Amino acid sequence: MAYEIDYLPVGNGESSGDAIILRFGNLLGERKEQTIVVIDGGFKETGEQIIEHIRKYYSTNIVDLVIATHLDRDHISGLYPILENLQVTHLLMHRPWEHAENIKKLFVNKKITQSGLEEKIEKSLQQVVDLEDLALKKKVEIVEPFQGVKGYGMTVLGPSIDYYEKLIPLFDGTPQPIMILEQLMGATKSALESAIEWIDDKFGIDLLNNDEEETSPENNTSAIVLFQIDGHKLLFTGDAGKTALHLAADYADSLGIPLTDLNFMDVPHHGSKHNISSKVLQRMKAPIAYVSASKEAPKHPAKKVTNGLNKIGARVFVTRGSILNFHHDTPVREGWVAAAEEPFYEKVEK
Ligand SMILES: [Zn+2]
Repeated sequence: MAYEIDYLPVGNGESSGDAIILRFGNLLGERKEQTIVVIDGGFKETGEQIIEHIRKYYSTNIVDLVIATHLDRDHISGLYPILENLQVTHLLMHRPWEHAENIKKLFVNKKITQSGLEEKIEKSLQQVVDLEDLALKKKVEIVEPFQGVKGYGMTVLGPSIDYYEKLIPLFDGTPQPIMILEQLMGATKSALESAIEWIDDKFGIDLLNNDEEETSPENNTSAIVLFQIDGHKLLFTGDAGKTALHLAADYADSLGIPLTDLNFMDVPHHGSKHNISSKVLQRMKAPIAYVSASKEAPKHPAKKVTNGLNKIGARVFVTRGSILNFHHDTPVREGWVAAAEEPFYEKVEK
């Protein structure tokens, strides 16, 4: 069975985003012999590009599965035009307001009610509520992507419901969480921004150790999904951070599916240094790693992340304003040329 993965360019300036399309099956056959999956939709204008791409290269208006890895703007905004203009069968998307009953004990204010909390979460995620409304109107079936959900050759490795519900109170738009939760999850509300300092890097040394601050709680809710196609393992990570990635690897181990022999790996969070450590890379290895990052984003991807991937034998490719296409068992598209591989950098961010 053949497959191809397209990474569309997303973002301007410092803001990166994700828009990925996966197609597998008999790619030279009819539409019904193929499966098409969209993983995140980038910003609003990215949605239009995805639609055009699907019509131009896949000659269809039907998308079997849309996955919203998490609810941040750079991943979710483009999904609205897709649901509006294409025929989508299933949508994998978290609905945090539906968890209000289970999590109301996790806030400082003990008087908070389920409906009050639901309303607060919905208000902070209006764009996502609109997407849910549109999906319901269009009769698209919505499933929350939690550990163990399966379909279309895919298994959700994380987050578990339990981990997800502990993260919701730490979202920017929710009331103050109880202190123990912040300690337990090792979270701060948002990662500190600082100027870049540079140091030397070379093979044989490890600069991707664990002292980097963890990514945001919102990023750690990202659905981490594994596709198994034709004996190949393709891993997509959204903006998941180290804790979430370790939990996903634990789950994969429990299923007897190691992630150390992947064929393709999506580098989390546009290659940010807050999301990957050498311990994570000991558990997730692929010969090919793709990064979705804006052309001008100074910190995406971090050079010490792409170097770290090089050190474990991965070839790294970054979108930077162009479409990247990875394919197996299907010819190169006419007129398309090989993308430039990320070099090994002698100087990286400290
Ligand atoms: Zn992102």
